[in-house]
Amino acid sequence: MIEVRGLTKTYGTERAVDNISFEVKKGEVLGFLGPNGAGKSTTMKIITCFLPPTEGSVLVDNLNVSEESVGVRRRIGYLPESTPLYQDMTTYEYLTFVGSMRGVSSTDLPRRIAHMSAVCGIGSVLGKRIEALSKGYRQRVGLAQAMIHDPEIVILDEPTSGLDPNQIVEIRELIKGIGTEKTVILSTHILSEVQASCDRVLIINKGKLVADGTPEALKANFSGAQHIKLGLQEAPENAASVLESVDHFRVTGQELLNGGETVFTVSTDTQEDMRPTLFKLAVEKGWTLTELHRDQVNLEDVFRQLTGN
Ligand code: ADP
Ligand code: MG
Repeated sequence: MIEVRGLTKTYGTERAVDNISFEVKKGEVLGFLGPNGAGKSTTMKIITCFLPPTEGSVLVDNLNVSEESVGVRRRIGYLPESTPLYQDMTTYEYLTFVGSMRGVSSTDLPRRIAHMSAVCGIGSVLGKRIEALSKGYRQRVGLAQAMIHDPEIVILDEPTSGLDPNQIVEIRELIKGIGTEKTVILSTHILSEVQASCDRVLIINKGKLVADGTPEALKANFSGAQHIKLGLQEAPENAASVLESVDHFRVTGQELLNGGETVFTVSTDTQEDMRPTLFKLAVEKGWTLTELHRDQVNLEDVFRQLTGN
């Protein structure tokens, strides 16, 4: 549905997007994750025909953004980072205006607005002026305008930025609903966002694509440390050095709790589950085990490893 090939965008000497390639399949919800300045917005602006690429190509439904931008834009709904809303229009007037600009016929418009109003939950603010709306409602109106012409693809640039936690949950739910019917690309620098909403994640850093896969696959391929919490009752003084004498084990934390229990954080650099080894070691040494659990690698570890300096 979307094919990005060797895409590069330079601003002066800066390579904001540096030779990235990926595909998006019909019906996918793709998360575009990266720190500020990574090149997310620039990539989205090129896919939506707001910026020309410096090198490389983007095909949307086999239409090239550089040659057939009208056709591409017909297929895409775009919510930019700062939503362009006309403050003195009512929501209804604004959606009418945007809809007619995008070629929705005047006979279809009321039906489209009614549908978007139901999908985005803005029925109660259709008669209100946009300047009077809360940030959460503005974002809903932004989503409604992006989809007023019923595009197959929806591209959302940081759709939850600046919202409060309740609004974030609401907009996420809304995007989930949209994702069941449309192909969606959304950008964010918030990790929980992609875990909550996306089938697949691209991680972009300094203009380069550094990871591409499902959140589960990224975590599974992660080659970083795993951390095991090991609790011992009345741990002997040499427990930490005994633990460290085992291959792959490093003690990265040690905490004495009330009641004589010590909880060690044992870090390993292997993918293998090391809990059985720890259990056997405890038995062999005659230690009283009070806790043994593995902290799951989370997407945050992956993200930090891939985008850290
Ligand atoms: P993101 O959306 O991931 O935060 P952007 O795509 O907005 O990143 O920006 C990528 C890089 O390109 C940044 O270093 C930014 O400063 C630079 N950049 C973005 N837009 C422009 C512009 N219009 N002119 C010059 N540099 C820009
Ligand atoms: Mg951006």
